[in-house]
Amino acid sequence: MSKNRVSPAASPCPCGLPASYADCCGAFHAGRSSAPTAERLMRSRYSAFAVGDVAYLLRTWHSSTRPAELSLDERVRWTGLEILSTSGGTAFHQEGTVEFVARCRVGGAEDSQHELSRFVREDGRWVYVDGT
Ligand SMILES: [Zn+2]
Repeated sequence: MSKNRVSPAASPCPCGLPASYADCCGAFHAGRSSAPTAERLMRSRYSAFAVGDVAYLLRTWHSSTRPAELSLDERVRWTGLEILSTSGGTAFHQEGTVEFVARCRVGGAEDSQHELSRFVREDGRWVYVDGT
């Protein structure tokens, strides 16, 4: 197994919020709570990519678009997340969008992914539908 994907509980959360991993996305990954907004779900999914939590990525994927399996590219190191805009996605909504830029390093090269993701509630919890 990969050793450098593991994020110690006390280290800063990969998603960029000013909290430890354990108190932030780690609580969602461990199933202690679920993300209250589409943005928090988006952040926690970014963190799941960063720490290599494939199970979390799959269970926060809408049942209609979820891949049968998912393998993460071991060469990718996620280095930062910037939320550009959101719509809907709060406790008062059933749908939401989050536009973000996720930065990463692949080998020695910097790369980034700019996406507008769609989220809906499924069984009351926010899940990822798809992105463009
Ligand atoms: Zn976080």
